[in-house]
Amino acid sequence: MAKAHSFSYQIGKKIDTAKVQKKMGGKLIGSVLESRIDEIKVHVFPSGRIRLTAQDKEYSELQQMIFNNTVGIISFIEELIKAAGVNTDAKTVMKTGKQDDAYDYDQSVIGEETRIPAGVMQMITISLYQFAGQFQASRTMTQAGEKEGRRLVKEKKPKNKKELLKLVKKFLEENSFGKMEEVKEEKRRLVDVILRVTSCAFASGAPNINEAICDFTRGVIRGAFAEFKGAETVSVKETRCWAKGDAYCEFEVYSLAA
Ligand SMILES: [Zn+2]
Repeated sequence: MAKAHSFSYQIGKKIDTAKVQKKMGGKLIGSVLESRIDEIKVHVFPSGRIRLTAQDKEYSELQQMIFNNTVGIISFIEELIKAAGVNTDAKTVMKTGKQDDAYDYDQSVIGEETRIPAGVMQMITISLYQFAGQFQASRTMTQAGEKEGRRLVKEKKPKNKKELLKLVKKFLEENSFGKMEEVKEEKRRLVDVILRVTSCAFASGAPNINEAICDFTRGVIRGAFAEFKGAETVSVKETRCWAKGDAYCEFEVYSLAA
């Protein structure tokens, strides 16, 4: 798993960073509060995350700096909890400290109404396939999608397959990745579920480059199913795609014998 050069604590509660800035000082950049503890740069996110970074330093150096500044970090967290008026204590927050995963992005910084235009998504996707090649592009997109699919199931904990499908559908639709429906009329051998996606942000209206390119969506479905089943024997194939000349994208989910 790829690791980032930053370290985070979680307050576990949402934070009004503007309110905190008025009491504690620091710089408000958009919705992020920036402060400093010695040479360590501190970012407080509206989600309640406290991120420590050190510019142009290796992670091992940051670790050393964190160790040397333990007292300063504790008092910063204590002051922050007080300013934000949240019900927790510094000891609990300190226990959540961990090195960031490279995929640990924080959506609270972007805001929920943000949308990437589908044209931009498609340009990025098709360029990736053309320049990195099918194999690398596919791995890149699948990995990103799988992360999202797994996160979704871990967070929402669907109880059955119906809830799982509803969750994936909602995720794709709310993020404008596409509209999803289960195809039930044709039963194909060994296929667990058939999912059809229209208005696909990655491919709808794309030219035919004779490749199925919606590996992000494929990854979301695979990650969600694998996490739900607690098994890695799930395989998802994109059998139809706009970029293969179809007018919709279609995914077949296989659950191989566990
Ligand atoms: Zn597609």
